[in-house]
Amino acid sequence: MSNQWDVIIVGAGSAGIPSSIFAANRGAKVLQLEASDKIGGTLMLSSGQISAAGTKRQKKMGIEDSPDEHYDDAQRISENTIDPVLGKLAIDNAGATYDWLESIGYEPIKSHPVAGGAHEPYLKRRYHWAENAAIAILDVLKPIHEKLADEKKIDLRLNTRMREIIKDNSGSVIGVKADTHDGVKEFYGKNTVITTGGYAHNKDLWNELTPKIPLRSWTNEFSLGDGLIAAREIGADYDGSDKFLCTFAGVLERPEDPFSTSLGMQFSPQVREPWEIYVNSYGKRFVREDHPSVHIREHALLKQPNQEMFIIFDENIRQNAPCINPLMEKTINNKYGNHPNYSKSKTLTELATAINVPEKNLIETISKYNFAVETGNDKDFGRVRMFGKIEKPPFYSIHAGGITVVSPAGLKTNESLEVMDTNGKIIPNLFAAGEVLGFTRLSGSAFVNGMSLMPAITFGKLLGEKILHWKEN
Ligand SMILES: Cc1cc2nc3c(=O)[nH]c(=O)nc-3n(C[C@H](O)[C@H](O)[C@H](O)COP(=O)(O)OP(=O)(O)OC[C@H]3O[C@@H](n4cnc5c(N)ncnc54)[C@H](O)[C@@H]3O)c2cc1C
Repeated sequence: MSNQWDVIIVGAGSAGIPSSIFAANRGAKVLQLEASDKIGGTLMLSSGQISAAGTKRQKKMGIEDSPDEHYDDAQRISENTIDPVLGKLAIDNAGATYDWLESIGYEPIKSHPVAGGAHEPYLKRRYHWAENAAIAILDVLKPIHEKLADEKKIDLRLNTRMREIIKDNSGSVIGVKADTHDGVKEFYGKNTVITTGGYAHNKDLWNELTPKIPLRSWTNEFSLGDGLIAAREIGADYDGSDKFLCTFAGVLERPEDPFSTSLGMQFSPQVREPWEIYVNSYGKRFVREDHPSVHIREHALLKQPNQEMFIIFDENIRQNAPCINPLMEKTINNKYGNHPNYSKSKTLTELATAINVPEKNLIETISKYNFAVETGNDKDFGRVRMFGKIEKPPFYSIHAGGITVVSPAGLKTNESLEVMDTNGKIIPNLFAAGEVLGFTRLSGSAFVNGMSLMPAITFGKLLGEKILHWKEN
């Protein structure tokens, strides 16, 4: 039957591309459905930070490391919240994935690997990224993928959005239904692989799965949770909704639009020491603003109502501090007082009203902070660097909040990436890889360096390279 493939891969992003490359190279007749008009998925947005142990690069640089050490280190950072089976599978195979990426032309920054970057550092140097972020990864995958598509070894269908997974009477998956430019079509295959990414661009699904976490999202517009929804429809199990860690922090350009997060706020004290203070919706400080650990700052923000914070400062700070958002250096001053999330007031009383926090608390918080500046002793939070009192009007606030770049929950699979149903049984012929498994499965309740992108690429590769079978079934 011409409408029959060995392998159907749904999605052509970080996990889907390697999956189709490896399956096609093993001789499979591959169909790849991609909702967007181009391949790449989140590789087009991601910072591209990947970790791996036991790589050729590490050996060349004299770094002694092993997957076991990487695994223990990742569990240390995540406080043992990474799924042990899939975590081990990802980390044991990350070295080979990394070596493969370099063998096809990927070049990280010369001095890499490093131990840390944006998140908690590893104990060893096993963390890399390239000048051009994840585009550097896409740039080496794309030509290989294109060649296989030209040779008709991968039948790539762009603008084709999978909507349903089809099962036969015995309960085995036999294909998918998708919206195509010719209407809804069915495609049949011996293996169906779901690599549709996360769901943090789908407000309804987000609110259903993580109702306590307000959505402020910086994600791919096709991260709509289609794979999770379709698999759930046929009885697949999922979890991970209870684990989440927000990223510190973002501002919504349009307060009612959770996808309008603007980039560029600089909170890392290693990059820009904070001159401001951060208060919650009670008008109280909640964290040592210059705490060197982003993990601690993120967890502190996670505990605040609505994961909201207000960055408070005065005219002195506005004039003398390095701009808090270098990307907006030229425009930010026009926003104060003219944008719902950027306030400017003549008095603290007016500022408290403008940002809707209790006036008494805000005034008390600022007076305590000013005393800490005067005495050089921040008794409440132990802040080390304080650059000046908050006393010169006008007073300013930027309303920010915890943001997400990933989706916490996802499909449950076994160690062969076969999707499990709610009775703990595998759904025959259905596999999944990438963020559709849930970010927290591989990174737990923390941001463990590189533990979303590298597992996505690795699992995609493993599926195509050895897990999927077509001749014998
Ligand atoms: C800003 C940002 C920075 C990040 N930085 C890092 C980092 O430095 N390190 C790290 O480890 N992780 C990082 N991540 C996370 C990581 O990049 C992602 O988890 C990973 O790329 C997801 O890969 P994926 O293959 O699961 O999904 P994607 O790469 O998003 O691919 C999914 C593909 O499926 C397609 N699709 C969706 N639905 C359908 C459908 N119904 N039918 C057909 N196709 C469909 C999509 O269009 C997309 O092409 C970051 C994420 C973001 C947003």
